[in-house]
Amino acid sequence: MPRTRRALAALALALLAVTAACGKEGSPPVKGPQPDQLPHYRVNTGFQLDASPTWRKASKRGHFVVGAKEDQPYLGEKDPATGLYSGFDIEIAKMVSASLGLDPARIVFRTIASANRETALQNGQIDYYVGTYTINDNRKKLVGFAGPYYLAGQSLLVRADEKDIKGPQDLAGKRVCSAAGSTPYQRIQQDYPRADLVAYDTYSVCVDNLLTYQVDAVTTDDAILIGYAAKAPDELKVVGKPFSEEPYGIGVPRDDNALRFAIDDALEADEKNGYWKEAYDATLGLSGVPAPQPPPIDRYPAS
Ligand code: GLU
Repeated sequence: MPRTRRALAALALALLAVTAACGKEGSPPVKGPQPDQLPHYRVNTGFQLDASPTWRKASKRGHFVVGAKEDQPYLGEKDPATGLYSGFDIEIAKMVSASLGLDPARIVFRTIASANRETALQNGQIDYYVGTYTINDNRKKLVGFAGPYYLAGQSLLVRADEKDIKGPQDLAGKRVCSAAGSTPYQRIQQDYPRADLVAYDTYSVCVDNLLTYQVDAVTTDDAILIGYAAKAPDELKVVGKPFSEEPYGIGVPRDDNALRFAIDDALEADEKNGYWKEAYDATLGLSGVPAPQPPPIDRYPAS
């Protein structure tokens, strides 16, 4: 990219940061989840799950350690000033903690990138993981999955003035960015090999690269891309129809079936008692997409 163009792009980014912070005249500021709008989950005191080694360890400690994302608006976002995490995935993590008898306010969240989720669960760095984590058979060889609690689909984010890219069929010869270790990355690699694919650890780095003309498109789940587009509606847009199914699960250590089934029970109960919808409306629902019906829980047998 020529130098002046690069300088202009940097200026555009700086302006974007300022306008995102202040809100723009004529367009409402993008509001994240409001703490006072979030549901309060009743803690299931007296709950016991002695068959689960993960639960026993957490119970002794007094709280869960949960893996999450920190740069996905409406889903899992960390406030750099307060260090607090918010979003739909964060609410799901809290809901589960309350059902399993541990105070959700005491959860310690750890940011884990897409490529490191299986290792984090395998080496006990986290008790469970809630972060746009697609359930699939390959991953099931390494970790367990409760859920699904939400169904997303792969989509494309481009610059607002992009005219050529309308769907994955238009990616030949285009620079496309996704996260290492993600299912969207793998799908482009396998099904659209003529795309010029690059990987970073996180989608927010991909979005920075899109805004500075280093790449032409970012691909991952629609739920994630909608959040980035909402933060910069004049610069970015989501195009085309979702071209995959990404059922989101809660990752648990593979052998801890007791924990997995207890989380399945918790999700099912919270979908019935209204917590799930309240959580959605206060977070991902702010993107403008009304609450869908959650997908049925897939209680697959213990292996
Ligand atoms: N849901 C996809 C996956 O689990 C993409 C989102 C992500 O990387 O977290 O790979």
